[in-house]
Amino acid sequence: MELRELGRTGLKLSTVGFGASPLGNVFGTVSDEQAIASVSLAFQSGINFFDTSPYYGGTLSEKVLGKALKALQAPRNSYIVATKCGRYKEGFDFSADRVTRSIDESLERLQLDHVDILQCHDIEFGSLDQIVNETIPALVKLKEAGKTRFIGITGLPLSVFSYVLDRVPPGTLDVVLSYCHYCVNDSALGDLVPYLKAKGVGIINASPLSMGLLTEAGPPEWHPASPQLKSACQAAAAHCKEKGKNISKLALQYSLLNKEISSVLVGMKSVEQVEENVAAARELATSGIDEEALSEVEAILKPVKSQSWPSGIQQS
Ligand code: NAD
Repeated sequence: MELRELGRTGLKLSTVGFGASPLGNVFGTVSDEQAIASVSLAFQSGINFFDTSPYYGGTLSEKVLGKALKALQAPRNSYIVATKCGRYKEGFDFSADRVTRSIDESLERLQLDHVDILQCHDIEFGSLDQIVNETIPALVKLKEAGKTRFIGITGLPLSVFSYVLDRVPPGTLDVVLSYCHYCVNDSALGDLVPYLKAKGVGIINASPLSMGLLTEAGPPEWHPASPQLKSACQAAAAHCKEKGKNISKLALQYSLLNKEISSVLVGMKSVEQVEENVAAARELATSGIDEEALSEVEAILKPVKSQSWPSGIQQS
């Protein structure tokens, strides 16, 4: 598995990262055995980056990932763990007090003494000025205390990243995690890459399958996409199936093509999905992408290209 540098952190992330939200039963029930086997196979296959949050499954994802990482019995510096703070099953709280308690709770659930990356989770749901003036300074203290090696922010609307990065001292933030904005149906993150690089932050792209839109099985019920976007993605999936091809493989490979993005986080809930996604990355490295299928899928998705959905509270 190819490794890519994450901004200026010195971390080298596997290009395919393990998104652990499915371990919180967000995409259907996953047993502990299934979770442990999936994480184990991912690690053996060269995936060294694991992303979770206290929000996923109301802390379940962190607990299960903690168990699975422990079962690896691997040196702590052989894998990279990212978690988040500020978003919980109970709601959002980006106060310094809450995020400072949050990391201790996460570390206990993950059975770790530090994480590699701690991110403010979905900042568009908070006051961005609080994020700048209170939350990020609290995260800087947690970094100084050794509870996390690096800090970052996550969110859906791309505008929140520049709002924050333009207001914190240079070098304060190490990482930005964007989701659903670098997939076959939406590549808006690509336009922001030069800005993010100039700011010196590492870039993580999550949800290459658009949280299930770009799968044969289709998205979960809670998926916020419009009916038009859902049906276009299903048409693309059906087209691939008809031609004996797999939309998820193509979608993951598309996201992996941009080398400015350090890692692509795919949510995985089974050994089969790990196998398929690792194979997709290997095939891309050896044979490249199926250009014909890609252009057909891009044509089907053209009417909904870069269509997103509202997320967060309005900023004044
Ligand atoms: P995704 O686009 O990775 O899709 C996940 C869905 O695709 C799941 O249903 C999974 O079972 C399925 N899947 C995975 N591999 C497959 C394959 N080969 N064939 C068919 N189906 C397959 O969406 P995601 O899980 O939401 O995103 C990935 C990860 O990124 C998350 O787990 C999380 O760690 C992170 N993330 C973070 C944020 C944030 O911080 N705001 C938002 C979204 C995602």
